[in-house]
Amino acid sequence: MIKNPVPWPNGAKVACAITFDIDTDSILHLEHRERAPDLLATMSWLKYDIVAIPRILDMYERHGIKQTFFYPAWCMEQYPHLVDMILEGGHEIAAHGYLHENPNKLKPEEELYWFDRQVEVIKKMTGKSPRGWRAPLYNYSKSSLDYMIDKGMIYDASLMGDDIPYILQTDKGQVIELPTQWAMDDWPHYTHAPDMHYMMPIKAPDEAMNVFMSEFEAMRRHQGLWITVWHPFVSGRLARCERVSQMIEYMQGTGDVWFATMEEIAVHVQKCIDDGSWKPRIDKLPYYDGPIPELQDGTLA
Ligand SMILES: [Zn+2]
Repeated sequence: MIKNPVPWPNGAKVACAITFDIDTDSILHLEHRERAPDLLATMSWLKYDIVAIPRILDMYERHGIKQTFFYPAWCMEQYPHLVDMILEGGHEIAAHGYLHENPNKLKPEEELYWFDRQVEVIKKMTGKSPRGWRAPLYNYSKSSLDYMIDKGMIYDASLMGDDIPYILQTDKGQVIELPTQWAMDDWPHYTHAPDMHYMMPIKAPDEAMNVFMSEFEAMRRHQGLWITVWHPFVSGRLARCERVSQMIEYMQGTGDVWFATMEEIAVHVQKCIDDGSWKPRIDKLPYYDGPIPELQDGTLA
């Protein structure tokens, strides 16, 4: 069902990346500004990252895997000890905005300012320029790809257009898209936060895991790419995290799964392109410059 699968290393049937977005309280300050300091219970729910991240890192160590964390730079500045722990574990830190700002709600020059600022913080705190980026809330803008190319990034993790990697291209250059989709995000499965106007029915871990594992089994049958978009304060809660640990054990037990960081996956994909063993599909951005012409005569207003 996948016509052009990537040849994964060592004959693996699926490439897997558990990616966590460490948004902590950035989202509350951004969306609620003056009110945020008064929302103490919600703030404490978000600050559960302080508890969940060490737990997740221990879990990765037990299972012997290195993974990727997408990190708003403001959160890195606020909680530097968590950054140190992630780096000590040998994991990848990738970009996820400065304060989780929404790129497609900003003017291009504003987006560029915050894009540059996030990269500078990551460089300073990790000693390395980020190789990839995920747009906060998937709000990728028409300028985002050019800004990524200017910063030398090699992959994006924001879009949803395929089951396997593909190329995003503008007149300026290209990056590899490592796509995911909403079913792989823990937010719709678990997030009930009235202060933030999220009122999802809370599922049992087994129910959410049923969705993630259906995606995994299909990707494994067809040699695809399985990337989660999870949050420590959501999926790092005790019962859910226990279930994630069981999941990793099961996946590793199959013997044909490649767990890797996003950077490792992008580097492998580029190698396959360079040596001619795989030819990617190319997606040109932006899809449209403005409203389609059919909407411009005013009759469909
Ligand atoms: Zn986020």
